Amino acid sequence: MTLRRGSLGAGGPGGAATTPSGSTEIETLIQLLSRLPGLGPRSARRAALHLIKRRDSLMLPLTEALTTAAARIKPCSVCNTLDTVDPCVICSDAGRDAGVLCVVEQVGDLWAIERTGAFKGRYHVLGGTLSALDGIGPDDLSIAPLVARVRKDAVREVILALNATVDGQTTAHYLAERLADTGVAVTRLAHGVPVGGELDYLDDGTLSAALSARRQVG
Ligand code: ZN
Repeated sequence: MTLRRGSLGAGGPGGAATTPSGSTEIETLIQLLSRLPGLGPRSARRAALHLIKRRDSLMLPLTEALTTAAARIKPCSVCNTLDTVDPCVICSDAGRDAGVLCVVEQVGDLWAIERTGAFKGRYHVLGGTLSALDGIGPDDLSIAPLVARVRKDAVREVILALNATVDGQTTAHYLAERLADTGVAVTRLAHGVPVGGELDYLDDGTLSAALSARRQVG
């Protein structure tokens, strides 16, 4: 831990995100960058220098992209994903099956499923998972709108694509109960051996989940 303190006074693991230049502007930039996920003080200093060196080719276009994104990107009023139009392009795409809803925790999960190109239904973004530890209850997530949507849009199947964490699975159980009297079919992602995975490298939880979810061959 360094003894030097920046004008914003923030320290943390790996040392304060300060620069010897004494420039308030540069320090503010580094402080803000260091709040990004995955960027500690050291990476924030490198990113700041990288931006400053590439003022015209990177820093100014990034500034413009951030300003535009901050002004135009909003949550979709139907599915809760992020887009510049409302309803979002997925909700307003008539070519996608409105009868199948894939429920995800976060927008990043929706993007991951979209990247596969394997799903042609629509989505519902919960905004997180139930968590007793963090005090997140059903009213903090987009659960009532999901149930209302299932009833209103004659949804046939709800796919629970939640993370294989304790909170993710607790939330999946809760959603299955909440949806039980709507008559919709509730399914969940299979858990098991990843494509290209070798059994010897799998953790015990993955291997036992794969074993209990085994299917008949042929
Ligand atoms: Zn939408």
